[in-house]
Amino acid sequence: MAKVSIGLRGWRFEEDEIFSDDGELKPLDEIPEDPRERLVRLVSLVEEPCDVCYLEHGEEDIHRCREAEIVYGEPEGEVLLCPEHEPDLIYWFREAGGSEHKGSVEFADRFHEWVAAGNESPEGFGSVEHVEEDPGGLPELPDQQEVQERIEADFDGDRIDILELAGQEPRDEDEQLTESDLADSDLDLSTDYPSDR
Ligand SMILES: [Zn+2]
Repeated sequence: MAKVSIGLRGWRFEEDEIFSDDGELKPLDEIPEDPRERLVRLVSLVEEPCDVCYLEHGEEDIHRCREAEIVYGEPEGEVLLCPEHEPDLIYWFREAGGSEHKGSVEFADRFHEWVAAGNESPEGFGSVEHVEEDPGGLPELPDQQEVQERIEADFDGDRIDILELAGQEPRDEDEQLTESDLADSDLDLSTDYPSDR
């Protein structure tokens, strides 16, 4: 099965879990819970600043931050990065103990602490080689605007339901992550983190 990224590089989705055979984004209630949670979360993450830029410049200089292009980690515990700062995350993950926090929502906090302590990847630490999807074999990806519109259409523009889906304000048991959901998500984490090579 082909994996695809939408909006931000990093999180990858099984193509046939989120797209119908004709390449259209599926209705949200037909998308399995884990990718649906990531998809909904993604919509709130695009156009956010890179975390490392933000730690550098802060809210008062937010205009100096680059927009994030990459996302790693778990929904609600994700790290957003610009390409210039991606090597810091890769270095922390591979060489500075970051991989211990794989699968945890603490992942982002631990990385932010490491950056805030003045750490960064060494000069010349390699940029990441990205696995390019086969461009001919993929359906046309909707842009973020389309995803947003789809999500709003599915919920008649009721944003509170979107927040619920993202797990921020669950109103009932059904929307809460269960132990088994967490265990299931563990099985697929390798797609959402840098490789351990
Ligand atoms: Zn940055």
